[in-house]
Amino acid sequence: MLQVRELTAGYGDLRVLHGVDLEVEEGEVVALIGANGAGKTTLLRTVAGLHPAGAGTVTFAGEDVTRRPAATVARAGLRLVPSDRRLFPRMTVRENLLLGAHPHRPDPGDLRRVTSLFPRLAERWGQLAGTLSGGEQQMVAVGRALLGRPRLLVLDEPTTGLAPQLATELYASLASLREQTGITVLVAEQQLPRVLALAQRGVVLERGQVRYQGTSEQLRDDPEVRRAYLGVG
Ligand code: ATP
Repeated sequence: MLQVRELTAGYGDLRVLHGVDLEVEEGEVVALIGANGAGKTTLLRTVAGLHPAGAGTVTFAGEDVTRRPAATVARAGLRLVPSDRRLFPRMTVRENLLLGAHPHRPDPGDLRRVTSLFPRLAERWGQLAGTLSGGEQQMVAVGRALLGRPRLLVLDEPTTGLAPQLATELYASLASLREQTGITVLVAEQQLPRVLALAQRGVVLERGQVRYQGTSEQLRDDPEVRRAYLGVG
């Protein structure tokens, strides 16, 4: 579904990604793990066409999308939910959701699926997005992406700023989404346990390079990974 090869990217003279290789197979959930500043956001934004690639290639659903505009990549079925959510605060929950719909008129079945996944949103249908809690805003951002019927859902640190209880709820919803639809997901996180429970595989990014890759079990059992990302071992 997604193949990233030798990808580099940066900001002016600052090189942030130093030749990253990453793959996501259809139907897989892959965790992208890294500390603050490792380059996760830069990688996801570059893959989505929101940040310019230096060298290397990004292939999505068999098509070379390197340096394609973000709108083209989104149309091909890759939807990025940014960690800052990017909702329209003065629009309602419903209006924000509909902005993600494909092709601009949502299927009522799609809307029902989003509200059954996030029942809280049905209760807050007419509320302005700017007045929602952080967790509820994250649900809207994920729901909006789902209404675009993505082939690959890309989540950038979806639990940023959420209380532990809401973060747990969000991951439970993602797990049931996965169970119901088999959707392919790439999700960046700093916190290991929750994301590895959802993902089959993890890729650890350190200073813009892939440091380890493995199944979730392998990563959970790796002493260095445990020390670095769980603070134990
Ligand atoms: P976090 O978990 O803190 O969000 P991250 O792994 O997503 O971190 P990035 O946001 O990709 O990391 O940042 C990687 C590096 O690029 C950091 O050193 C950061 O300071 C730098 N960087 C990010 N955005 C910019 C920018 N707009 N201009 C200059 N440098 C930037």
